[in-house]
Amino acid sequence: VAGAKLPGEFELIGRYFRPLAAGTPGALGLGDDVALVAERAGSELVVTADAVVAGVHFLREDPPDLVARKMLRVNLSDLAGKGAEPVGYLMTLALPADTTEPWLARFCQGLAADQAEFGIGLLGGDTTQTPGPATLSVTALGRLPAGSAPARSGARQGDAVWVSGTLGDGALGLRCLRDEFAGLDAAAAASLIDRYRLPRPRLALGIALRKSGLVHAAMDVSDGLVADLGHICEQSGCSAEVAMERLPIGAAARAALAIKPDAIEEVFAGGDDYELLFTAAASSAEAIQAIARETGVALTMIGRIGQGRSVVLRDAAGRVRPTERTGYKHF
Ligand code: ADP
Ligand code: MG
Repeated sequence: VAGAKLPGEFELIGRYFRPLAAGTPGALGLGDDVALVAERAGSELVVTADAVVAGVHFLREDPPDLVARKMLRVNLSDLAGKGAEPVGYLMTLALPADTTEPWLARFCQGLAADQAEFGIGLLGGDTTQTPGPATLSVTALGRLPAGSAPARSGARQGDAVWVSGTLGDGALGLRCLRDEFAGLDAAAAASLIDRYRLPRPRLALGIALRKSGLVHAAMDVSDGLVADLGHICEQSGCSAEVAMERLPIGAAARAALAIKPDAIEEVFAGGDDYELLFTAAASSAEAIQAIARETGVALTMIGRIGQGRSVVLRDAAGRVRPTERTGYKHF
């Protein structure tokens, strides 16, 4: 975004960050060294951090308000995986010298919109200049009753594996942005791109699932289904078998797959889903479908937990589908 260079650090904090902290008394108006978060008897704070880097997680030319909202939402998705109520967030920005004030203004507009949507406020952070690409980090705080967070390690043999919403949309959206789906209907492409740029953290669903007490293991899917289900298996000491024909695929993704059938990989190995993945006793299926109806988020039973350690994908004919590409890895 073209425009004037950034003002000094303290003008920046006063002009752009302080208003985002106005609704959170514990932020002390960003006028002190720390923020204070009230403790509550019997509850636990849930803390999670995620950073995004220009050129890795977003492009320099991406709309700054969407960069901000995605940065915040990927953290809220981690809270959703544990069924936590969001409390607030800290934000550390390392910005290149050529960052402009209009860029930062739009970035903060995006944050303001999402603060209103999710009922949270800014608690504090740090701002520095960097010789490298913009590096934006959020630490989000959530709250839940002590001891109630579903772990990755709780899956049991015989559990059903469930996933929320639809899979593959975000990863297909990124490929649309790279012009890999020429001929795809414009509305379908726009909806996939929207899923890539603006995750929908499943907070209400996560809370309802946690409160139900039915969930054995849970997490959000951000690195791809096979990779993330692999994390559950590793932590729980079990295996999982997934029925490919059960994977929930939306209409826009189906239209994209009609053009490039091989892109089905994005459904089970692509990243950027930000859906919830969890296991529960097979006998809980009806109660879980009731939660889907209450929260308005589709839930699909996609497989079973078994013995061993691996994640196996089986097609409709019963053949095992090899999964070399299991998800995004940075190193
Ligand atoms: P310190 O001297 O402790 O490093 P700073 O001068 O960096 O404090 O920051 C002053 C205040 O502004 C603090 O309350 C800090 O939390 C807040 N702040 C600085 N940068 C950010 C940011 N990127 N987001 C939110 N708050 C910020
Ligand atoms: Mg500082």
